[in-house]
Formats: sequence, C-alpha cells, structure tokens
Amino acid sequence: MIYNENEIAQRIATVRAQIERATEQAGREVGAVSLMLVTKTVEAKRIIQALECGEHLIGENKVQELQDKQARLEGQRYEAHLIGHLQTNKVKEVIGYAQCIQSLDRLKLADKLQQRLEFEDKTIEALVQVNTSAEASKFGVAPDKALALIGQLRDYERINIRGLMTIATYTEDEREIRRCFQLLKTLQQKAQQRYGDYGDFKTLSMGMSKDMKIAIEEGSTIVRLGRAIFGARD
Ligand SMILES: *Cc1c(COP(=O)(O)O)cnc(C)c1O
Repeated sequence: MIYNENEIAQRIATVRAQIERATEQAGREVGAVSLMLVTKTVEAKRIIQALECGEHLIGENKVQELQDKQARLEGQRYEAHLIGHLQTNKVKEVIGYAQCIQSLDRLKLADKLQQRLEFEDKTIEALVQVNTSAEASKFGVAPDKALALIGQLRDYERINIRGLMTIATYTEDEREIRRCFQLLKTLQQKAQQRYGDYGDFKTLSMGMSKDMKIAIEEGSTIVRLGRAIFGARD
C-alpha cells in the first residue's frame, strides 16, 4: 500500500484542532487534553512520521508488539503506555518497555508487578481500568469494585496510580457513551476524596477516534486515537 507522506501530518493537524476546539467548547483549559497515538498494527515508518510531527505519546495493546516497536523505533523520543489487557506472565517484559500500564484491573496483577519492580528496584505508573460499559467481553474492574481496588493498591508502593482508564460501550447511542465517561469521572472524584493522600488520580484516559469529543466534554485528560490518525486497521 502506498501512503501519502503528508497524510499523517494532515490528520494529526486536524485531530489537534478538533481536540483544541472540543476542549475550549467544554470550557476547559487549553492543553488539558493530551493526545495518545494508538500504534497497534501500525508499521514503524508511519509511527516515526507521526513522532516527527512533534507527538511523543504512544499506546500499544500487546506487550509483544510494544517490544517489537521499541527495537524499530530506536533513536526516537517517545513515551509508551500499555493500553491492552496484561497477563501476569508478561509482567517481566512490560516493565522494560512501558512507562505506564493503563490496564491495571486486578490485585493479582498488582502483586506480580510489585514483586518484579522490587526485584529490579524500579517503579511504574499505572491507571486503573474500569469496565464502565459492563460488557462481558471487556477487561477492567467492575465499577462497584473500583474504589475498593484503588484502596488496596495503596500498599503497592512501587506502582504509582495516576488515575483511571476506560473504553466506552461500542454503540451509536451517545447517551450510553456519555454515561460510561461520566461514571469514570465520578469514580475519579471519589478516589481523589478517599485516597488523595496516597495518590494523585488526575489522569482520565478516555475517548477513542469515534467518541473523543464526548470524552473531552466529560473530562478526559488523554484521548487514545488510532484510526483518526493512521486510518483503518486491517
Ligand atoms: C485500539 C484502541 C484504541 C484506539 O481506537 P481507535 O478507534 O483506532 O481510535 C484506544 N484504546 C484502546 C484500549 C484500544 O485498544
């Protein structure tokens, strides 16, 4: 397939303008929303084109792909987050490749992370993924269990919780999408009230290509965009 060299730069400019407009319209401060490039299945050459536009935050779903990309993106400056489900047997690998795990959703995973981080004398950032859509196929802690989990994570001093992440219901029903984002925001505020002494829960990672605008209206601080920037995936 042949790609127009400028295509990615154009898309980034468009998306950046959309983010800015949505942020302003929501009465929020300019710069309140960060852009994450979701680079799953995207070849390194195209990721580099995006990084050369001044972007620096990328997200991958799979640890293996994160590892492969790191080798191919050598010499580039970027920050990578894991945004997909993390199996406990991949903990060792992920620590070297991701600055933040956005998909922390269970204590067993936190246990493994903490053990490995102690062994390597490192720390990592994490977001607690909440299954706001309540779709059985999606990962994330159930909304009514989220605050208890965050409370328990207090004891894991190598894991720095920065906030919450969610994937809204896949639907055309805007109210349902909005409900998911509002639920995450409410949980964030409660977490801040209850556990603000040990953590800082400012980050709300929500909004993808399809529902970015709604997410920004509801308080997102990171939108995760794949298709809006790199086009349709195979
Ligand atoms: C793929 C993916 C995205 C990006 O989705 P697009 O529709 O391509 O913008 C965002 N978040 C997660 C967790 C993903 O898996």
